[in-house]
Amino acid sequence: MSYFFEFDTTQLPGERADIVVCGSGIGGLTVALTLKELGLNPLLLTRGIGNTYYSQGGIACAVKEGDSPELHFVDTIRAGRNLNNPSAVRILVDEGLLSIVKLERWGVSFDRDEGGYITTTEGGHSFARVLKVKDYTGRAIYSALWQKLKEYEIPVVEGELQEILGDDRVEGILVTVKGRLRLIRLKVLVLATGGAASIFRYTTNPSKARGDAIGIAMRKGIKIRNPEFIQFHPTVFKDSNLLISEAVRGEGAFLVDDKGERFVNELEPRDVVARAIYRKMREGRQVFLDMRKLGEKIILEERFPTIFSFLKEKGFDPYKDLIPINPAAHYFIGGIDVDMFGRTSIEGLYAVGECACTGVHGANRLASNSLLEGIVFGIRTAYRIYMDINRLGFSEKRFVFKKRKIMKRYLDFEGIREKLWLMMGVEREGENLKSLLEDLDRVIDTAPYWEPTVENRRIFDLLLIARACTYCAYRRKESRGVHYRTDFPYEREEFRKDSYYSLPVL
Ligand SMILES: Cc1cc2nc3c(=O)[nH]c(=O)nc-3n(C[C@H](O)[C@H](O)[C@H](O)COP(=O)(O)OP(=O)(O)OC[C@H]3O[C@@H](n4cnc5c(N)ncnc54)[C@H](O)[C@@H]3O)c2cc1C
Repeated sequence: MSYFFEFDTTQLPGERADIVVCGSGIGGLTVALTLKELGLNPLLLTRGIGNTYYSQGGIACAVKEGDSPELHFVDTIRAGRNLNNPSAVRILVDEGLLSIVKLERWGVSFDRDEGGYITTTEGGHSFARVLKVKDYTGRAIYSALWQKLKEYEIPVVEGELQEILGDDRVEGILVTVKGRLRLIRLKVLVLATGGAASIFRYTTNPSKARGDAIGIAMRKGIKIRNPEFIQFHPTVFKDSNLLISEAVRGEGAFLVDDKGERFVNELEPRDVVARAIYRKMREGRQVFLDMRKLGEKIILEERFPTIFSFLKEKGFDPYKDLIPINPAAHYFIGGIDVDMFGRTSIEGLYAVGECACTGVHGANRLASNSLLEGIVFGIRTAYRIYMDINRLGFSEKRFVFKKRKIMKRYLDFEGIREKLWLMMGVEREGENLKSLLEDLDRVIDTAPYWEPTVENRRIFDLLLIARACTYCAYRRKESRGVHYRTDFPYEREEFRKDSYYSLPVL
């Protein structure tokens, strides 16, 4: 099913824009600002704040004496279990420095002292190379870039992408603005719409960061890559989406079970730590973060103000209390397959940030590499568009889509998210994945009859993504990075290759 809504473009209010950048996280803002600096006229479309704003830990870059892009490269590949695209990693670590300078020029002030940048370490890094702004790095980046966007007078449409029009090339989009469907004809569309970790019952992603736009692109036949790799964050305040940053463990906090015993090296990569916690919990034990000793060397409310005030609000004093935690789905490693300049297989369609897959993270993302990816590849994507735009034009084609019979939908989407957590979560097993696929297919088959509402469209697109994740997880009969199969608990060399998935275009 190519389209979800009913429409006839001759009947819709419409406008034109050369370039629409969809998404106002680090990826979208970087593309829009860079395009403007290159003399082009982007329009930014967004439905609100995404994951960028909530990033706490920081942004990884080899800026300190004794560190190097080579060490950062090695750490990234080691965490990614050798599934990374080495060219993408090379770009990430080499162009990181330029991107940090760019962020500073756009107004971000990373923490410094008389010795230069104050950097921290996180799981999988062999060097303290994570730059930060206290524990609200993402908010600081978002605010500075948004301010710059206003200064550059880049027009912003507060609305939601619903459909992409066109077949071999992008010819337009349908968006809802204040509940009404509108048409925008364009030459270039950049998707910077974030990841889809929200498909799981437990997630760190805020409510607006649902990632469903990957599904909109899939309905155009776009290829997605490695969707089975979803990173689970080990330390999320129990039953909430408040992440307790890795930096807390980097500063020396411990993980203990309800007997007070440590059971894992807290600075191992996230998948290792998340699995260790998950297994403890499956044994019926509780797991806690012990931050009490940190108070001897740092002032918690100054170093981690967001976490500190949240915990206080919940009645926990990190100087005295153990903090209950569980793992939660955090980061979507796979995504829309792109080249090193954000190009997809459809002309005029580009993707950047968490919704895209450059292959940089391989089978597991090294902590704090994703903000860096958003800016490094955002800049490259803007430069590519600068080169491509002159040969792209507007289309005047009419697009019409009529639905078959419409019936009331009864769908327990929360139940599906729960199942995804249990069967596609931290640990997976072949028979479970097969039965989950059958369940998903049964629901997806009814979608042509659903009422064409915005929420139904989002759920439909999320189900398409969930199916892609489950299918590729089923096919990958090995464990690698964040993908852990209890029936194949080891890496298999014949599977050291990317998974691809696309829908037939109807
Ligand atoms: C709690 C938390 C902490 C994190 N900490 C770190 C960290 O310390 N370091 C790090 O490197 N990474 C961190 N990450 C990951 C990082 O935040 C994200 O990978 C990154 O910010 C993604 O940026 P983005 O621009 O791709 O997407 P996002 O910032 O998620 O933005 C997506 C944008 O797309 C818009 N959008 C989506 N769909 C539509 C649609 N259909 N129509 C219109 N607009 C749409 C959203 O409104 C939003 O503006 C963290 C993530 C979370 C959730």
